[in-house]
Amino acid sequence: MSEKIEKLADLTKSLIKTIGEDPNREGLVKTPQRVAKAWTHFSQGYNSKLESVINGAIFNEDCTDMVVVRDIEFFSMCEHHMIPFFGRAHIAYIPNGKIVGLSKIARVVDVFAKRLQVQERLTCQIRDCIQEVLNPLGVAVVIEAKHLCMMMRGVQKQNSVTTTSAFTGEFENKATRDEFINLINAKLS
Ligand code: ZN
Repeated sequence: MSEKIEKLADLTKSLIKTIGEDPNREGLVKTPQRVAKAWTHFSQGYNSKLESVINGAIFNEDCTDMVVVRDIEFFSMCEHHMIPFFGRAHIAYIPNGKIVGLSKIARVVDVFAKRLQVQERLTCQIRDCIQEVLNPLGVAVVIEAKHLCMMMRGVQKQNSVTTTSAFTGEFENKATRDEFINLINAKLS
């Protein structure tokens, strides 16, 4: 058992005690271990190197047509409450001599999502990463998410969806941005 897992398990045991439960109760005995492993997964983004995620998957290509990857599912942890927020990311870029393997776009989302986050920063970090790595003519990122911290506590808005967006380059132009929005809203038949 790694030192990190052990520490996280100890903290979880304290949490269980503090909320008024018995960590030695049968159903809870292995819970600290499970929670520790889960949190190691939720925070994996801190240990992932973006270069190693993307490198080797960048290709030279003359195409300058918009590339859109939509409905990338993600799960992240709200940094204010350490409760999940989750939803879908839609990402587009207009190549400028370079393209990246499509699955890598989803990996970029994952690297930034598996940290303590706010949706606004997650959106901008994905945009900036793609802009930096590919130097495209423009990047667009739209994220739609539900926040359990809003749904379970406080305002209890069960169905509210928060949408954030971030753009660079050609997506600053309304026509290009509209084309992207139409593509992510289009129903595939
Ligand atoms: Zn929150």
